[in-house]
Amino acid sequence: MPKKKNNTTPAENVSAESAKKRGRPAKKQEAPAAKKTEKKKGERQTHVRNPKNGAPRKNEKSVKVVSLGGLGEIGKNMTLLEFEDDIIIIDCGIGFPEEDMPGVDLVIPNFAYLEENRSKVRGVLLTHGHEDHIGGIPYLLRHFNIPIYGTALTIGIIKGKLKEHRMPFTPQLNVVSAGDTVHLGVFAAEFIHVNHSIADACALAINTPSGIIVHTGDFKIDVSPIEGEMINLARFGELGKKGVTLMLCESTNAERPGFTPSEKSVGGTLEELFTANEGKRIIISTFSSNVHRVQQIIDVSLRHGRRIALSGRSMQNVVSAAIELGYMSPPAGAIIDVTEAKHYAPGDITIISTGSQGEPMSALYRMAFGDHRDITLGANDVVIFSSSTIPGNEKLIGRIINELSHNGIKVIHDSVQLGLHASGHACAEEIKLLYQLVKPKFYMPIHGEYRHLAANRNIASFLGAPAENIFVGELGQVLSVSRHRAAFTDTVSAGRTLVDGYGVGDVGGAVLRDRLHLSEDGILIVFASVDLTTRYIVNPPEIVTKGFVYVPDAEDLLYEARIRASEILSDMLDRSKKPNLEAIKERIRRELSKLMMNETGRNPMIVPFITDL
Ligand SMILES: [Zn+2]
Ligand SMILES: [Zn+2]
Repeated sequence: MPKKKNNTTPAENVSAESAKKRGRPAKKQEAPAAKKTEKKKGERQTHVRNPKNGAPRKNEKSVKVVSLGGLGEIGKNMTLLEFEDDIIIIDCGIGFPEEDMPGVDLVIPNFAYLEENRSKVRGVLLTHGHEDHIGGIPYLLRHFNIPIYGTALTIGIIKGKLKEHRMPFTPQLNVVSAGDTVHLGVFAAEFIHVNHSIADACALAINTPSGIIVHTGDFKIDVSPIEGEMINLARFGELGKKGVTLMLCESTNAERPGFTPSEKSVGGTLEELFTANEGKRIIISTFSSNVHRVQQIIDVSLRHGRRIALSGRSMQNVVSAAIELGYMSPPAGAIIDVTEAKHYAPGDITIISTGSQGEPMSALYRMAFGDHRDITLGANDVVIFSSSTIPGNEKLIGRIINELSHNGIKVIHDSVQLGLHASGHACAEEIKLLYQLVKPKFYMPIHGEYRHLAANRNIASFLGAPAENIFVGELGQVLSVSRHRAAFTDTVSAGRTLVDGYGVGDVGGAVLRDRLHLSEDGILIVFASVDLTTRYIVNPPEIVTKGFVYVPDAEDLLYEARIRASEILSDMLDRSKKPNLEAIKERIRRELSKLMMNETGRNPMIVPFITDL
């Protein structure tokens, strides 16, 4: 991809006025919307008498809100706003394959609805640089040459990703700052600073013909952030005063009571651990995108007279991007090359590594299994997981902890030590606080499995939101929102598109069922050729199996299968019958399946290759 510096200059569509007053509202743009809200206030009161809000009336203009990802799942977040001829996209992430998707690399949202409305799509607004929000961008850009808007770190991470993908055109990447407003069609989207486990995260307040729609992105309220400001609560309060029609709020930690601890609290835990392990080499694993955590590890290392080495490609990439963009400024010489690490005394070095989720092939995994080029672990090492376990990764992480423990290496992780990690997502009290500031008329929990969405719905109910004003939706459901009414009115195509190798969307339900079937009981293939005209068996049945039985021990069984297949062929080629290749195959499949089930209790996939010569 050719380097195009110009593409990263602030967007044309970003209002110059708001860019000047960073962090301040772009008053001019919002005034009309605010006025309209006031004008219609009288009208609203008449509707208050009617407890059912219902769908917007026919002549009433409404904005459609559609989630193509992020409902009923944590991953592949993507929300569309549509009004007449304009569609804007908020985030476009990836999800990871489930256990019933063998061989699938990753999952992206289904873009069919966007394909159908190609001419309406105006651009993508990105809340932050996590994979579940930006990972689908390279796949989206293959089909839509549309502008992308995000903060500097978000766009920086996307640039790195796009290098690995061949793009048919130069992507239109636009850097914005919190406080900026982007105009796309009828929509005007303001970026609002929030706290999260990655720097430069934003929520969005979008001015629409139905009033203001707030999308929280991923957020927490951190009153002592490592770098930069606390979430811009004041701005959320201002929007609440103006009147917000709809709030889309993330639900990840909605089940957890209280407040999420500050990122700074992790620094205290690290300080204690470094003091307790003076003289030992410390290997510490965390999420590479958590720039602030990495910064804290660097700070505590320097206080203890240690140099720092980075291990793992994504760790090195993110840290160098963060340094380049000014998110991190370690003193010169503090970070050394990982190949030099072995020349330092154990107490003089910290190694920050990828692999906190137990990913096979990650730097930590290779260290644990003695397969790392530059680092060999021993009794003088302490391995610390400064991370939480993402549900589903327990086994992988367990494998590393077991291997290290087996080899006498001390491991410190979240089940033996509190305070090693602080989540980037709001707990119940933080959601309540933001809700009370924004005071939306309608509320829609997003970014969560159903249990999380339900917990978030209960929070809004607890705060007094009428049940009919809270919308827990499904992927593809269309929420039609006018200023005073909202309802699910329609459904558009949505779901998941599977990515396997270079193939996008070519692996579907049928392929997955086959893969699962194969993975459970293997395959049995019957080869034979016949002459349907002369009704002869030209080549008698041969049998090949894979993953079903150990052939040398199953000779009798396979012999029986061959005999049975021969009998079926002879019978079906009988003069009295009308020979039909499909019917022959079907009968072989059915009868051999029954035979194998009776003899072995297994159900291999039976594939008859019968050819008519
Ligand atoms: Zn996130
Ligand atoms: Zn997320």
